Amino acid sequence: MNHKNEESDTLTEAKTPVSNFIRTIIDNDLQTGKHSKIVTRFPPEPNGYLHVGHTKSICLNFGLARDYQGVCHLRFDDTNPEAEDVEYVDSIMEDIRWLGWDWKDKLFYASDYYEKLYDYAEILINDGKAFVCELSAEEMNKNRGTLTQPGIDSPWRDRPAAENLDLFRRMRAGEFADGQMTLRAKIDMRSGNINMRDPVIYRIKRASHHRTGDKWCIYPMYDYTHPISDALEGITHSICTLEFEDHRPLYDWILDQLPVPCHPRQIEFARLNLSYTVMSKRLLLTLVKEGYVNGWDDPRMPTVAGMRRRGFTAAALRELADRIGVAKASSTVDFELLQYCVREDLNKHAKRVMAVLDPLKVIIENYPEDTTEMLEAINNPEDETAGTRMIPFSRELYIEREDFLTDPPKGWFRLAPGAEIRLKHAYYITCKEVVLDADGKIDKLICSYDPASGGGWTEDARKVKGTLHWIDASNCIPVEARIYDQLFTVSDPMSAEEGKTFLDYLNPDSLKVIKALAEPSLAEAKPGESFQFLRLGYFCADYDSKPSAPVFNRVVTLKDSWQKKGVVSQRLV
Ligand code: ATP
Ligand code: MG
Repeated sequence: MNHKNEESDTLTEAKTPVSNFIRTIIDNDLQTGKHSKIVTRFPPEPNGYLHVGHTKSICLNFGLARDYQGVCHLRFDDTNPEAEDVEYVDSIMEDIRWLGWDWKDKLFYASDYYEKLYDYAEILINDGKAFVCELSAEEMNKNRGTLTQPGIDSPWRDRPAAENLDLFRRMRAGEFADGQMTLRAKIDMRSGNINMRDPVIYRIKRASHHRTGDKWCIYPMYDYTHPISDALEGITHSICTLEFEDHRPLYDWILDQLPVPCHPRQIEFARLNLSYTVMSKRLLLTLVKEGYVNGWDDPRMPTVAGMRRRGFTAAALRELADRIGVAKASSTVDFELLQYCVREDLNKHAKRVMAVLDPLKVIIENYPEDTTEMLEAINNPEDETAGTRMIPFSRELYIEREDFLTDPPKGWFRLAPGAEIRLKHAYYITCKEVVLDADGKIDKLICSYDPASGGGWTEDARKVKGTLHWIDASNCIPVEARIYDQLFTVSDPMSAEEGKTFLDYLNPDSLKVIKALAEPSLAEAKPGESFQFLRLGYFCADYDSKPSAPVFNRVVTLKDSWQKKGVVSQRLV
């Protein structure tokens, strides 16, 4: 069976879990009876497509729910209407499903809680824990203080509760202009933690929301919305990335002030960073909007959609998430580890076929003209059930131009004048003559074949060192091969020199389009289907393919430099 990467495999079985500090916390909470069942959540903001960093969080949250027989919610954190869109909501759901996870009926939106969030805000106001502030954003910034200097109290901080309540209701009713007022939590302008210095929890913003339309002109801030949403859903462990560590006191403060149903525990872990790419939706949006790539699903993008289109498999992305594990310390994962995971998976599933990217004609002078022979070829040596197929062979063939050298160095195992090599699935051939064109470039090779060597064997069992891929010149099809390289020329595009940005490190050669030739079976390749082009790499049919003109994305080469580093079997943490 061929591997079709548009169909995801489902993940019913728990893997033998490797322990980490989050599992230790959960084990403890279950043992002590603090919880009898765990509830986690993945809370994307629908302001872009998911990237491979998100897959770490997805696999962590859904994986914990699976392993502990708990539940994982999908919650759209949609409190910022200007940046959000249903296109992103849809793509996020598609990507999570493709990754193999299922939120069942646990789909939530923070926007569903707007009414409750509003009611809780009135409670804070009545309790003297929130106030309406009329400072401009600029003034507020000035009064916030620094890491070493305390902030300054807002002149509006001590308004009576009744006045705050009246103003807040009128904010909701649309009586004030955008930015004219905010609702702020009344905590401590002298706190060592800047997040606790009377943070804004509501702002006025006249923007249509993708779900609530124009119903609201005030929107709650993330730091206020998130803990309450977690509590309303009965989340037990609210797992987020390290940049929220300093927000945890605020998370806890909000829940401590309000009559919420429970108080989830926020736990932070290190984000996944990957070399040679950027991993922030904002930067990825710039690449898309300014046309540096062809959309969110451009195969060079680190988005889940891009990786899927490129031919990376869901199993490989999950394997990456498993291998990197969960830690508190930030680290950057080598892109080659991801490529290694992809190769490992495709090696098991991808059908082996032959294509030639840079064709050089070979004429077999002692092979009969007007004859085509069908030879049996194994589809996948790693998978007996994949069976065999018949491939055509005749007098004129193509081999890869780089597989021939007129004057080869010592140790050259490929074709050269007088040398004998094996053609995969076919015969031994010997190069008799090199024919040059008018410019002195090699035009074709005249070779002879050994009829006794069919299937790669000779009766005298003589050995040849090289085996080359080839295709039959009169029975092949033209295909477009898209060869990708890293999108950036440096491993960390975000640590740009003075005066430069990540855009200055875009790789001008990240995409090469090649007109190649392939065996006829590839005419039927379906978009999303992956193959190993023998000796060339793994390729995945792109959805730009037309019935007689397939297009293939190179997923990854066959060469594995990661394994050579000798750390494949080690976990990174
Ligand atoms: P970005 O900065 O790329 O826009 P984000 O954190 O704003 O990412 P969200 O949609 O808010 O994106 O993220 C949803 C969840 O995914 C959050 O819990 C967040 O912590 C997690 N997440 C985001 N990026 C990474 C990453 N690189 N590694 C691990 N988890 C991540
Ligand atoms: Mg975010």
